[in-house]
Amino acid sequence: QLILAIESSCDETAVAIVDVEGNLLANQVSTQIDFHARFGGVVPEIASRKHVEVIVGVVDAALEEAAESLGLTGGAITPAELAAVGVTQGPGLVGALVVGVAFAKGFALAADKPLICVNHLEGHLFANKLTTPDLEPPFIFTLVSGGHTMLVHVRAWGDYEVLGETLDDAVGEAFDKVAKALGLGYPGGPIISRLAEGGNPKAIDFPRALNSRGDYRFSLSGLKTAVTLYIEQETAAGRAIHLPDLAASFEAAVFDVQYKKAKCALRETGAREYCIGGGVAANPHLRQMMIEKLGRQGIRVTVPPQNACTDNAAMIAVVAREKFLRGEFAEFTVDADPNMTL
Ligand code: ATP
Ligand code: MG
Ligand code: FE
Repeated sequence: QLILAIESSCDETAVAIVDVEGNLLANQVSTQIDFHARFGGVVPEIASRKHVEVIVGVVDAALEEAAESLGLTGGAITPAELAAVGVTQGPGLVGALVVGVAFAKGFALAADKPLICVNHLEGHLFANKLTTPDLEPPFIFTLVSGGHTMLVHVRAWGDYEVLGETLDDAVGEAFDKVAKALGLGYPGGPIISRLAEGGNPKAIDFPRALNSRGDYRFSLSGLKTAVTLYIEQETAAGRAIHLPDLAASFEAAVFDVQYKKAKCALRETGAREYCIGGGVAANPHLRQMMIEKLGRQGIRVTVPPQNACTDNAAMIAVVAREKFLRGEFAEFTVDADPNMTL
């Protein structure tokens, strides 16, 4: 029994196929980054149009890849051979989501298959199941993505206690804005993280906001301003900015806070497991820091595969499979919901 899942919440058109045992048989991602990069961020109208252009091709590629994974010689899997069709319902850009949801509805209806709606944020969480199938609540989960920063106590699957969120920018957004201020390009996360490899994280003492024990709220706008001011000051003084040091110090300021709050939440809830998700979880320094520091305290730390942190459909397929096993299907009257939360 095969489940096909579609993700189109932002600027990736992605389609994955899993079998009912959870094996990933296809994982196609078509990214639009090149079309948005010149604007320094995702342009919603362009995103919707690109999804429309490529979605059929990406689905076909996934059906072919799954046939190859299964060692079938007769060509691509046909829609009739699927057990269900999953799709990201939200949150995200409404015009982008609508393309995936409308396509999934039509595709499922034509093939007479049930439809499954998936919360994109739950997808980022369930990406951890790709590396750790036996991950079980209770645990603490940090979501650090382009649009969200959340510290969550997962008491049971589906029972999410959001301990804290950001008051202003999301972590990924802060990476993107800092890279933009430095004229480094879009998206900023991978650029800054590569630069930080060769930098000294203690070179510049950037502020750590809302850093007191038990406060699970996040704020990144002050840090963003501090970085901008630093760039202005150094430029005005005629000093060259050492990019690796700046990148490493910025990362340290962001990740120190993430670590402290996660540690505190683990203590307070008594949870012994921790995992992380969202695009920023691809950052090697963040992954390493959590694995080493929390690991030393006897916490089992799970991270998603590095390529399943930014948007993909494999993580959507994992959630769709769970829902399929529980028989949680959606009506064909559903709509995209850009404001979904955990
Ligand atoms: P959301 O999931 O909240 O709706 P999104 O889907 O747009 O938002 P993701 O795809 O999960 O966001 O993550 C994209 C973000 O991850 C971007 O802001 C990007 O800069 C950041 N990012 C990607 N790789 C890295 C990295 N190595 N280090 C830091 N940030 C990174
Ligand atoms: Mg993206
Ligand atoms: Fe995302």
